[in-house]
Amino acid sequence: MSFTLAIVGRPNVGKSTLFNRLVGKRLALVDNMPGVTRDLREGDARLGDLRFIVIDSAGLELAEDDSLQGRMRRLTERAVEEADICLFMIDARVGVTPADEIFADILRKKNANVILAANKAEGAAGDAGAMEAWSLGLGEPLRISAEHGEGLDDLYTALVPLADEFAERNAANAPVTDIVIEDELEEGDIPAYQPPSATKPLQLAVIGRPNAGKSTLINKILNEDRLLTGPEAGITRDAISVTADFMGTPMRIWDTAGMRKKARVTDKVEKLSVADGLRAVRFAEVVVVLLDVNIPFETQDLRIADFAETEGRAVVVAANKWDLEEDKPEKLKELREAFERLLPQLKGAPLVTVSAKTGKGLDRLHNAILKAHEVWNRRVPTAKLNNWLTAMTEAHPPPAPGGRRIKLRYITQAKTRPPGFVVKSTHTDKIPESYERYLVNGLRESFDMPGTPIRLYMRDQG
Ligand code: GDP
Ligand code: GDP
Repeated sequence: MSFTLAIVGRPNVGKSTLFNRLVGKRLALVDNMPGVTRDLREGDARLGDLRFIVIDSAGLELAEDDSLQGRMRRLTERAVEEADICLFMIDARVGVTPADEIFADILRKKNANVILAANKAEGAAGDAGAMEAWSLGLGEPLRISAEHGEGLDDLYTALVPLADEFAERNAANAPVTDIVIEDELEEGDIPAYQPPSATKPLQLAVIGRPNAGKSTLINKILNEDRLLTGPEAGITRDAISVTADFMGTPMRIWDTAGMRKKARVTDKVEKLSVADGLRAVRFAEVVVVLLDVNIPFETQDLRIADFAETEGRAVVVAANKWDLEEDKPEKLKELREAFERLLPQLKGAPLVTVSAKTGKGLDRLHNAILKAHEVWNRRVPTAKLNNWLTAMTEAHPPPAPGGRRIKLRYITQAKTRPPGFVVKSTHTDKIPESYERYLVNGLRESFDMPGTPIRLYMRDQG
């Protein structure tokens, strides 16, 4: 996920075909199924050793009337805004059309980084069209065949230098999960917290059991204009995302189940959606675990929440369908108790009540998400940490196996997203887990870091 590539171009040039090829059959489930949201699709792509997010702006090929043309234009513009690089595709067999010129114009106006590709260039039938593409003034057209997988090596070669540039630029904001700590970082090595912005929206996943209300919630969050739902058939579905302005905060919401209309969804898709939801967690910075308040904290909810914690994501638990609840104070007490008992690993994570249907509580949810994001990025200065460590060990000294007391010498924060701390100590192998838990809980309380996983790394230092 080092950079984002948007595939743009007029309908039928082969955007979806290339998208599917880049994303692979892991994700690309073509369902001839009505009622699926038509919008920007996103997936994680691989090409050689490159890993990136690809955005497909297709799915509007039935757009005949003016308003849909307008929407297509807007979607394209947004794809360009969201992406680091645009792959502008034309059909080599058809040559350059007036519609292509409109797209070229949008790209020029938006000052996009463009790679021009003439698709369907297998065999000789595309020769003339590929030559014509020079006339768009966007540089040398790559000759590719999305369907036959030809020319992808040239695409790779074109992407590498841009990829390097954007990977560097984006690295600071990428979610970090597996981190190998060689040495603790210097304080200045971790960038200061940057609130979500239009160019770096907060990455959100909404997950939960079927029928918890994910679709309802996401549709409520999204500006209606962002969703094009309709009876058209033949849209490819997979793990996708949409970008929304949720109460003034730009967010990219990852989900599958949440972005389709429920009414006509088949069993096949329903089964896929749980796995897709878990996949969405990997893209997310903050995960909203949505509970159905009528049947909260069942095994599936617990598994989902635990997965989010293990993956190191900030978690917000939202109890949905709160409008149905009669004795709200009593129910809230019950929920809190169950939460503490069943999900101790998420101690302090916010629990908010919402009604996706009425929209009540969405402001609370929004605030909890923002706060969780900030905490997940929290950086505690080393001096404060060491004062804290002294106080902690004085209040409750570590054990003394064989009469020799373990000495915790030094603590520093080595990473954020989620926060991770290195403790230098003697005999780290003798420190009981309960003592590590004492430290983690202490960090959480002393530095106000609820709802985020905290990683503790013990390192030997004699
Ligand atoms: P989109 O509307 O731009 O997403 O276009 P699609 O990916 O749906 O492709 C439109 C049509 O072009 C489909 O019938 C594809 O099978 C076909 N197509 C896509 N790529 C190629 C290609 O490289 N060569 C040929 N001959 N046909 C292709
Ligand atoms: P998903 O499977 O998690 O995407 O769930 P849906 O969004 O499709 O919702 C499942 C059912 O719960 C639908 O009948 C919704 O109308 C209903 N529902 C969703 N949110 C609420 C809510 O806040 N209150 C009430 N009363 N019903 C809700």
